[in-house]
Amino acid sequence: TRFLNLIAAEPDIARVPVMIDSSKWEVLEAGLKCLQGKGIVNSISMKDGEEEFRRRARTIRRYGAAVVVMAFDEQGQADSVARKVEICRRSYRILTEDVGFDPADIIFDPNIFAIATGIEEHASYGLDFIEATRQIKATLPHAIVSGGVSNVSFAFRGNNQVREAIHSVFLYHAIRAGMDLGIVNAGQLAIYEELPDALRDAVEDVVLNRRSDATERLLALAEQFKGKSGAAKDDAAVLEWRDWPVDKRLEHALVKGIDEFIIGDTEEARLAAVRPLDVIEGPLMAGMNVVGDLFGAGKMFLPQVVKSARVMKKAVGHLVPFIEAGKEGGLKSNGKIVMATVKGDVHDIGKNIVGVVLQCNNFEVIDLGVMVSCEKILETAKREGAHMIGLSGLITPSLDEMVHVASEMQRLGFELPLLIGGATTSPAHTAVKIEPQYEGPVIYVKDASRSVGIAQALAQESSRAALVAKVRDDNARRRERHANKTRLAPQRSLEEARSNRLDIDWSSYAPPTPAMTGTRVLADIDVGRLADYIDWMPFFNAWEFHGKFPDILSDPVVGSEASKLMADATAMLDKIVAERWLSARAVVGLFPANSIEYDDIRVYADAARSAELCRLHHLRQQRGKPDGQPHLCLADFIAPEDSGVQDFIGGFVVTASHGIETHLARFEASHDDYSSILLKALADRLAEALAEYLHERVRRELWGYASNEALSNAELIAERYRGIRPAPGYPACPDHTEKATLWALLDAERAIGVRLTESYAMFPTAAVSGFYFSHPDARYFSVGNVGRDQVESYAARKGMSVTAAEKWLAPNLGYAPAAADAA
Ligand code: SAH
Repeated sequence: TRFLNLIAAEPDIARVPVMIDSSKWEVLEAGLKCLQGKGIVNSISMKDGEEEFRRRARTIRRYGAAVVVMAFDEQGQADSVARKVEICRRSYRILTEDVGFDPADIIFDPNIFAIATGIEEHASYGLDFIEATRQIKATLPHAIVSGGVSNVSFAFRGNNQVREAIHSVFLYHAIRAGMDLGIVNAGQLAIYEELPDALRDAVEDVVLNRRSDATERLLALAEQFKGKSGAAKDDAAVLEWRDWPVDKRLEHALVKGIDEFIIGDTEEARLAAVRPLDVIEGPLMAGMNVVGDLFGAGKMFLPQVVKSARVMKKAVGHLVPFIEAGKEGGLKSNGKIVMATVKGDVHDIGKNIVGVVLQCNNFEVIDLGVMVSCEKILETAKREGAHMIGLSGLITPSLDEMVHVASEMQRLGFELPLLIGGATTSPAHTAVKIEPQYEGPVIYVKDASRSVGIAQALAQESSRAALVAKVRDDNARRRERHANKTRLAPQRSLEEARSNRLDIDWSSYAPPTPAMTGTRVLADIDVGRLADYIDWMPFFNAWEFHGKFPDILSDPVVGSEASKLMADATAMLDKIVAERWLSARAVVGLFPANSIEYDDIRVYADAARSAELCRLHHLRQQRGKPDGQPHLCLADFIAPEDSGVQDFIGGFVVTASHGIETHLARFEASHDDYSSILLKALADRLAEALAEYLHERVRRELWGYASNEALSNAELIAERYRGIRPAPGYPACPDHTEKATLWALLDAERAIGVRLTESYAMFPTAAVSGFYFSHPDARYFSVGNVGRDQVESYAARKGMSVTAAEKWLAPNLGYAPAAADAA
């Protein structure tokens, strides 16, 4: 009763029909009272006489349920064809004529008994059922025939292949005779046509009772198939490990990333252990060591490791309350690492993966999350007695923040190793900018695979000194190389570069007028439509699979794991869509605009071009170029004001993050990093897909200059369309602070709830923004390094100090800023 009431309140489950299965009438009746919709009662019979049978049937009919009727009467179970059919007929008549049952609601179970038992009378049991079925179906209209199938092969317990063969042969013939329903282990069904001929013939002889020595012959043949299983081969092999000793089971679960049985196994190991901690330090660590070794040897891939970590976390999660209750002291780890995405930055997929991989290798990871201040990182490291600190960042302003953390570590007397990672970081930046600030070891960590080796080498006395010396050496060499480089300085003055700008002939070009001007908010975009616009390659990169999509799925080395990852991703994507986990929102704006001397763009409020909405500031290339190649600036793609040509520009911000927190919290609660990282990576993909989708709509409809465009996803990814959507912070417009102007122009925070951090990172994280340029010659390029003349001009145009401009343009400076010299 309690169970049925619980599931009745669960919308997804409540829709499923329920069969109440009991030999006790009180149980059946209690169940009927709770069922919603139409249920099935299993079962009643005339065992206790016709009167009782009638009474029960009436009750069932009142509840609107269907009923299974066993071929059983006052004399017992029906075994012969005649008795089976006779009892079913009598039941049928009573049910339909006396009780008023709908015949389609009657399910007969004419008893399947075991064959090949060695007892002569049993030899025809299979055939009897089949023949009874044929007669019931022929004479009792609409009635359904069911049977419990595994009974038939009971004599071959322990020989799964023979049992499966018997089931499939039996079903093959019974279904042809009219059997409608059967209860059978669906995972243990061989395919009739695929049975070995000899086995199928021998089984058929037994099931159809074709010869008197059929049982002996099958027994003889069965020896050959002992220990094997046909259809269930995989299952059986997969489940064979369930019989192993618990330690081995734990290890297997970790290596294979199977979390299905982990709590039960962990509990079993705990009961057998002296202290709960022994389970972690013993079998669990042993399993994780295997994972670590295989990963190190390139025999396991990142998604597998993250799945193993999920198993480990669940096991540890189960043990922690017992460890705490016993107050036996904490786990001895390889070392403690405090990790964070630095202040102003929000990206954490890579960092989370590194954290998981380190945890797998028995490091205690204290992950402070994203947008973490220097003070908090260093305080935590001190309080926790950390052995190392890891910093992560994706956008360029984070580089500066990392330099700041390093100098603070120096000031506060830290000596811990500082690990640097994330998309914008590099060995060069680490060596040139960060290490000089801090006397402790400063180590660039390329990816999750490298992090383990480095952390382990640092954790061990024996290897630590050598690693630190090598890193210092490498860093010094990099600094030297860097100092000798001359290509840093721009070869052209700003004036020279401007006089060589891209010279579009505006007199012979009419910019397309957008179908809409001003801004528009798209608040509820169908996430299901975005799936087709996903570019999967960056998704695989995030998991450290390198190669082309979709070739990677059939790669001889990583193909199988990449395919599993793809399957997990697709399954989650289906849920994201079906259960509306994420909502996609966009704001887009199209405005009259002209460029002005020479590198800025004026955006106007209306077609009259009387009021300026805002001004966009851009940078121009200053590197040396062969004759005939222009020094590009994005402003070149917009008609200059003095040309008199009415041009336009667009802007957009999109996000697919809204709603993600609930699900991340859910995964966190169940120690499921794998799903959490998967979801974040998918949200990123959906945001990029949304940017692609929106750009297409802009070209075809909102701006409308390419209304006939029809490109495949591959063509979209390859940018085979007219126009570009450069993103602030990327090479053609590297200044992240321009996002502030874009945000104001589109009122983006209010429109779709995406805000900018102090470093101009977009939050929530899965967001994309940029400008739209429509000119056919518009293309992506890299501004590269700029000179002090341009920085001064740029700062003046933006109304900021030169020092501030130098801070934001740090990665593009072609000279050493004065402020840095002073420091
Ligand atoms: N299909 C990819 C798209 C993102 S990368 C994905 O799903 O991740 C391509 C985007 O980066 C472009 O649409 C543009 O917004 C930006 N971009 C690329 N090169 C750029 C450059 N040189 N300057 C400015 N933005 C650039």
